[in-house]
Amino acid sequence: MEIIKKSKRMISTSELLKSKGEKIGLVPTMGYLHKGHVNLIKMARTECSKIIVSIFVNPIQFGPEEDFARYPRNFKKDCNFSEKAGADYIFFPSTDEMYEKDFKTFIEVRDLGDVMCGRARPGHFRGVCTVVLKLFNIIRPDIAYFGQKDYQQLVIIKKMTKDLNIPVEIAGCPTIREKDGLAISSRNKYLSSNERENAVVLFQSLKLAEELIINGQRNLEIVKKTAVEKLESNPFVSKIDYFDFRDEDKLCEIERIDYKTARILIASAIWIGKTRLIDNILLENNF
Ligand code: AMP
Repeated sequence: MEIIKKSKRMISTSELLKSKGEKIGLVPTMGYLHKGHVNLIKMARTECSKIIVSIFVNPIQFGPEEDFARYPRNFKKDCNFSEKAGADYIFFPSTDEMYEKDFKTFIEVRDLGDVMCGRARPGHFRGVCTVVLKLFNIIRPDIAYFGQKDYQQLVIIKKMTKDLNIPVEIAGCPTIREKDGLAISSRNKYLSSNERENAVVLFQSLKLAEELIINGQRNLEIVKKTAVEKLESNPFVSKIDYFDFRDEDKLCEIERIDYKTARILIASAIWIGKTRLIDNILLENNF
């Protein structure tokens, strides 16, 4: 496995791979890799002949009060994980390499980027789209892999790719969870053991909403109220950013269960102490 730090070198390497007919899979990450990332790399391995994992904690997707400086990092462990999972290259640029001093261009996906996490984290998806487009231009992957754990991000990247005619296929991969159901995330490291134990309430509240609907509750206001009450009754939940029912593609809010969509996105973002966690499930809408 080769580690590449310079964009120029990454571009020439990718060009060479493509000229040899290799199919390039890209797995963009912010490092501190875990089983969710490893699953993305493994999925890429089944479809592509060369796998590139990018590791870059992207400063422009963090707000001024957010956790950029303390975001967990462990490059050595990331290299081991990536190699074991089947990566051929790690693209590991510095901040200066990605953003020169006079950097002025940003990508914005309107509407989709303004709701849910976009409302709680203004500018977040603008930062995500900008870095992802840069990675696409540097690496020119055939397929890029993203987790459904960050469902809104996946929808936005798909839309950007379509709107800007970017020749890349976007693959969405299932959320990998801990045994108790908590979605695995690099940010889970911030949780104390008590907080970690209680963090599963996020997944449980989503499952509760799902169960109520499956069991016949058609009033989404009641479903939401019940799920939010479950969250609020947990003393470790310090804030609820949102608990929403949304269209799986347009991300517009669903008010009635007879809404015509193949699947309903149930998504939530909460704070456990000082740690913000997100999760979602997709509910088949075939009642
Ligand atoms: P991050 O390093 O957190 O920016 O995540 C990099 C990629 O891994 C994104 O596409 C995430 O959606 C994906 N990812 C993170 N956690 C998980 C998980 N638990 N299951 C599946 N994919 C994940």
